[in-house]
Amino acid sequence: MSLDTGKRYIVIGAGPAGLTAAKSLLAKGCRNVLVIEQDDVAGGISKTVCHNGNRIDLGGHRFFSKSDEVMQWWQSVLPVEQEDKPSDEEAFLVRHRLSRILYERKFFAYPVTLSMDTLSKLGGRRLVKIALSYALARLHPVQPEKSLEDFFINRFGRELYQTFFRDYTQKVWGLPCSELSADWGAQRVKGLSVTAVLAHAIKSIGKSLRKGTGGIAQKDVETSLIAYFLYPKHGPGSLWEGVAQDVQRMGGTILYKSRVTGLDYADGRIKSVAVAPTDSRDGAEETGHDADVVISSMPLRELVAGLRGSVPADVLDVARGLVYRDFMTVGLVLRRNGRLADLKDNWIYVQEPDVHMGRIQIFNNWSPHLACDRQTLLLGLEYFCSEGDRFWTMADQDFIAMAAGELEKIGLARKEDVLDAFVVRVPKAYPAYFGSYDKIGVLQKWLDGVPNLYPVGRNGMHRYNNMDHSMLSALRTMDCLADNGPAKSSVWQVNAEKEYHEEKQ
Ligand SMILES: Cc1cc2nc3c(=O)[nH]c(=O)nc-3n(C[C@H](O)[C@H](O)[C@H](O)COP(=O)(O)OP(=O)(O)OC[C@H]3O[C@@H](n4cnc5c(N)ncnc54)[C@H](O)[C@@H]3O)c2cc1C
Repeated sequence: MSLDTGKRYIVIGAGPAGLTAAKSLLAKGCRNVLVIEQDDVAGGISKTVCHNGNRIDLGGHRFFSKSDEVMQWWQSVLPVEQEDKPSDEEAFLVRHRLSRILYERKFFAYPVTLSMDTLSKLGGRRLVKIALSYALARLHPVQPEKSLEDFFINRFGRELYQTFFRDYTQKVWGLPCSELSADWGAQRVKGLSVTAVLAHAIKSIGKSLRKGTGGIAQKDVETSLIAYFLYPKHGPGSLWEGVAQDVQRMGGTILYKSRVTGLDYADGRIKSVAVAPTDSRDGAEETGHDADVVISSMPLRELVAGLRGSVPADVLDVARGLVYRDFMTVGLVLRRNGRLADLKDNWIYVQEPDVHMGRIQIFNNWSPHLACDRQTLLLGLEYFCSEGDRFWTMADQDFIAMAAGELEKIGLARKEDVLDAFVVRVPKAYPAYFGSYDKIGVLQKWLDGVPNLYPVGRNGMHRYNNMDHSMLSALRTMDCLADNGPAKSSVWQVNAEKEYHEEKQ
């Protein structure tokens, strides 16, 4: 399929979606591709932050996809290093996933497995409650399933939900699960259920008996159960910085530290994009860039607010009502001491209700190349928050002291072992499925009618998209741009499957 290579393409954002779009356009021969990025580096929320030689990931980014197209795309950028042939070249490592839940100061497997270890840690009384409440949920599921609480209870029973899901999920969203839409569970937990966990456990036993590892091709495994993933030696940002360099080498332009402040919208089309230096006040020093096609991964709320022209009131209302959840992480360098020192976990869900911390990343276990001194532990202590709240506005030193204190409180490390620490704030880490989200169809329909504007990515489409979905939205946009390509509305189908609706009962 061919597309018009002479058009002026503007891509907003140099995260996974924007860079995938830009590189694909250039690979197809487009000559005029301009990427506008407000940050000073590529990668978006999949970037890697470097502090005094220590590299941390914002979250932990597993490179895994059920799409062969994406798996091949990644491996066309970075080779996979063979375990027996280590080299100094940048490459993907194949990592084994281990993540557990910390609850009542004990570690439980995640996803929860029905092993002897789990059973003994839960104790007889709670096990009986779990079994009874699960049976009750199967016999009398909550119908209709409206909230995330209903979603969890129907799949796991009330007791298991309260033990392993409730507190962590409330930390993520800052709202009780009864006020969250079931859609989030559908996207996040996909087809996971007690039945899926049991089936997976039985299959894994069979596999280990046959001495197979399953490798990285685990297409038929529920997303929450994926056991292996790829990870760039120096963090996800190294892959995306490499893609950004490819874009420039192929003739594209990336304007860093440049923020899109508005889009001129007239006669039903985008005519031009207004750009100002990121640090300029109120869009001072704005310059206009004429565009034939705009591919946007900037947050949908800001995109619509920035349209300069006549936009229907209901569209503006829905856009204005979209809500995001923000995220802070404390990069912590520690002496190798205490309970954390020998753990193999990539990350730990902190389900303890007496601390605010949501998750702990142990970056040494993502890649040994992230910590500049391999004798130290490199952690990410993650907090979910809202821009402007008391966490967001806390001075860095106070925030670090609080986070290190919480780590000590849950018995994992001592404050005096902290060698270095820094704070990273990540605005709009999560597009929320509340606010005006239930009316997002109004917005999608209207945007489908603007023929040269293509929203892509996570916040760009306001969908809980991982990197692969964000990239697929850019790749499907390429299909739409081609002569006789599908309608642009088809891009909304990426990551739209609600597997729980068709769960194998
Ligand atoms: C804690 C956490 C853990 C995650 N873990 C995983 C994982 O394990 N695996 C996985 O696949 N995915 C994971 N993700 C999701 C992944 O980070 C995203 O799917 C991906 O980064 C989205 O790419 P994107 O290009 O759509 O958006 P972004 O990464 O948000 O990039 C958008 C870019 O647009 C720029 N931008 C925004 N507004 C403007 C403007 N006005 N002007 C100019 N530029 C602008 C931003 O600066 C940014 O660089 C995780 C996310 C989080 C928050």
